Amino acid sequence: MKISERVQQVSPSGIRRFFELAEEMDDVISLGVGEPDFSAPWAAREAAIASLERGKTSYTANRGKRELREAISEHVDDRYDLSYDPDEEIIVTTGVSEGVDVALRALVDPGDTVAVPDPSYVSYAPGITFAGGEALPIKTSTHEFKLTVEELQRAGAQHADAILFCYPNNPTGAIMTKSDLEPIAEFAREHDLTVLSDEIYAELTYGREHTSIATLPGMRERTVVFNGFSKAYAMTGLRLGYAMGPPEAIGGMNRIHQYGMLSAPTTAQHAALEALESCDDEVEEMVAQYNRRRNFVLSRFEEMGIDCFEAEGAFYVFPEVPGGDAEAFAEGLLEEQQVAAVPGNVFGEDGKGHLRVSYATGLDDLKEAMERIESYID
Ligand code: PLP
Repeated sequence: MKISERVQQVSPSGIRRFFELAEEMDDVISLGVGEPDFSAPWAAREAAIASLERGKTSYTANRGKRELREAISEHVDDRYDLSYDPDEEIIVTTGVSEGVDVALRALVDPGDTVAVPDPSYVSYAPGITFAGGEALPIKTSTHEFKLTVEELQRAGAQHADAILFCYPNNPTGAIMTKSDLEPIAEFAREHDLTVLSDEIYAELTYGREHTSIATLPGMRERTVVFNGFSKAYAMTGLRLGYAMGPPEAIGGMNRIHQYGMLSAPTTAQHAALEALESCDDEVEEMVAQYNRRRNFVLSRFEEMGIDCFEAEGAFYVFPEVPGGDAEAFAEGLLEEQQVAAVPGNVFGEDGKGHLRVSYATGLDDLKEAMERIESYID
């Protein structure tokens, strides 16, 4: 059967290849995963079960249950100083994944250019291609993996149509503070760029508050913000996220969503509502545990003499690999020491020479994995 050219342009994810290799081996410790090792808070799971017991198995409104959109609106106001109208400016999606996908298809025309930090989350460039656009990678490795105007300009992003990024960042753990974001906002205003800000790791910052670019002057009207329940609430399998932005953007996204998805999973919407209403303590506890693990991993790399910048968000660190060939290092580490981690080049050209190490893994396994990495280097 004929496969579309758009699909043929996109190669399968490089992360999968490592998981497949790891699956064939015994006693592997995986530092490759991009999802929490915790279960969703019990109250959220119980709300999902109760909704099923009450027979709540129909579609919801296309944009999601109104009660949930109201709760999201209050939550983002409290937590990030973002103000969005539940009726016009919020849509509940099947994960941030669907949100980003429909936003790209709703806001990008064939031939449009979308700037993305390099390295970046693996789904962005394929999503841009599927929408008919072109991804423009922006080098970040020389600026602790933050997006800078200098590199945007060097890449020609002043002629782009949009920027898509996530901070706290996957794969590097970098964050962007308010003062880091200000020049980016000015650049976007000056060159009339749409901003797609994936803030799925917003709750996972260590010692600093998250700032959304949409809170900066003149940015609300040109930004779509994405967030969800996968990371902060350990609900990856329930597939729930949301997007917030100006009514015309959310309306455009809903036009695709209402035909392609109808509505996000109903059971997950019940769980999400409960998560927002009663699970702050569990989130705080998970964040504290991630932070302990982050400190441990960073200190172990330092002891080994491996350069690793101090990641302040998400659950990743991004050390430089000795010798510089991350692909060979990751393969050797897996074969000789049964530790799986993802080579940075999978996330873009500028990630080469680095390894993405996820600490969404218990401290005992992390300790053992770091021992094995040390033996491998020795
Ligand atoms: N955005 C980023 C930056 C991610 O790292 C991930 C998952 O790893 C996602 C989105 C996917 O989120 P969801 O599970 O809400 O679809």
